[in-house]
Amino acid sequence: MTELNVEQVRGVLSAACQAIYDAREALSEADRQIGDGDHGIGMGRGFKAAREAVDSTELTTVGDAFKAVGSAVMRTSGGASGAVFGTMFRGPAKVLKTETLDGEGLARALEESAAQVQLRGKAKPGDKTMLDALVPAGIAAREAAESGGDVVAVAKAAAAAAHEGCEATINMKATIGKAKSLGDRSLGYRDPGAISVTILLDTIAEGIEAA
Ligand code: ADP
Ligand code: MG
Repeated sequence: MTELNVEQVRGVLSAACQAIYDAREALSEADRQIGDGDHGIGMGRGFKAAREAVDSTELTTVGDAFKAVGSAVMRTSGGASGAVFGTMFRGPAKVLKTETLDGEGLARALEESAAQVQLRGKAKPGDKTMLDALVPAGIAAREAAESGGDVVAVAKAAAAAAHEGCEATINMKATIGKAKSLGDRSLGYRDPGAISVTILLDTIAEGIEAA
């Protein structure tokens, strides 16, 4: 697989949205440890709406599919995750004005996604947020693309780096968001948003490989 067409991208993103909806109980459980226990509620609501949007929207470019997901999440999730995960998908829409998605495009999308979430949310790597999964995913995707990896290789590299980054949040103290007030008590748990990033990138990689 060297590139996906717009309809294949629609299918991949639709499956990723469904995976978040299916994981909503576990995501709220993770948020009960270090937050207010609602991460799965907001994400479930947002990505259900996002799946409906991406399934039904008319698509011309790959970016249109990302925008449909991001806009629906932003509109319906609420909480920090609405803005953060909405931006994760809307952010890269403008660098995806093509009718196909290849490894280079996916790497650019993930880099742009990480950059836009940092701009909007003012968090940085090490703060124990979803950025600790998303930023390394963007870097790994770029490395895979630069070394000639196809879109499957780029997606797999991104997902693997997101997992590593998510595991690393266990040893981080939260310095932003609702977990901030816990201080040392936020140690020992994965960041819920970072878990969401691994679910999204895992499903995207599986979908791309199967496309
Ligand atoms: P809330 O914090 O409003 O209850 P959620 O529980 O849905 O929202 O989402 C919490 C997750 O949002 C955190 O685990 C973290 O990954 C992410 N998050 C919070 N603030 C930021 C931020 N400024 N930048 C990036 N991610 C953030
Ligand atoms: Mg919460």
